[in-house]
Amino acid sequence: MSAYAIGVDLGGTNLRVAAIDAQGQVLHKVSEPAVFDAGPRRVVNEIVKVIEAVRTHIGTDGLRGVGIGVPGFIDMNAGVIIGSANLPGFQGFPVRDEIQEQLGTKIILENDANAAALGEMWRGAGKNVKDLILLTLGTGIGGGIVMNGKVMHGFLGMAGEFGHMTVFPDGNPCGCGNTGCLEKHASATAIAAMGRMMHFGRDVTSARVYELALEGNERAKLVFESTGRALGIAIASLINVFNFPLYLLSGGPLPAWDFFAPSMFAEINKRSFIFARTGTRVEKGLLGADAGLYGAAYLPLQCERALTDQPTATAVSLSTEG
Ligand SMILES: [Zn+2]
Repeated sequence: MSAYAIGVDLGGTNLRVAAIDAQGQVLHKVSEPAVFDAGPRRVVNEIVKVIEAVRTHIGTDGLRGVGIGVPGFIDMNAGVIIGSANLPGFQGFPVRDEIQEQLGTKIILENDANAAALGEMWRGAGKNVKDLILLTLGTGIGGGIVMNGKVMHGFLGMAGEFGHMTVFPDGNPCGCGNTGCLEKHASATAIAAMGRMMHFGRDVTSARVYELALEGNERAKLVFESTGRALGIAIASLINVFNFPLYLLSGGPLPAWDFFAPSMFAEINKRSFIFARTGTRVEKGLLGADAGLYGAAYLPLQCERALTDQPTATAVSLSTEG
């Protein structure tokens, strides 16, 4: 039977699991409500149960491994979650080894935003590139850096924390201790907060601000103009530092692209001569919430490819010996 991998996404309120073949075709997909604060033992048992069901459905023979996208920081060597607001009690719990032992299959953990960036490269807007950055606009702003086809982790696995880039030195205070962080000016939460300042009501959401902009409300349009400026300032810096061909945005506020993109591109043009003089692209991600599932499934497949590439390395070492 043909090779496939299983991707798992622990983000949001659902546990989502997909079997995806080496060509990127989804063979089977399951989504079920999960209580992620039930404690690590119960959550892990639930994950194992769902993965097992999918594996039985598709067939054990072709399975090359399981990738799991986790909303939090991960110690990649230990396979342990070292910090996650969405998975209380997981701190230090041996998630990878526990699941690996129960399933008898190779397990790879990855931060969910990193997995999403990898997914966009494999099957989404980044299909034709090996270097890209994805920024995800949500409650905060996260994202991932894919360099030469692989997730860039940084020395502690914390690379890609775009939400805390300073965009306005004296801007809004952030929980991280800084002022003027990108996510305080361009996340869905920030859009809603600006909506409140515009007197759209205490319970206004970013989606509602978008509706108002569609209806022609000038103050709502101003909110997105401000969002675009903040994004543009941040993305211009990323372009200047990385010189990647592609920068992607995803998340809830993406439908408002036409309202924030003009001010975003104006800032990028002004602040990045690389952007102004090259074919650098800033675009929408294509996979939405599925990006993380694709990326998670790609992890074991990518590992296997690296292994089959090994003869080259052997040849090099042989030639140095000779
Ligand atoms: Zn911050």
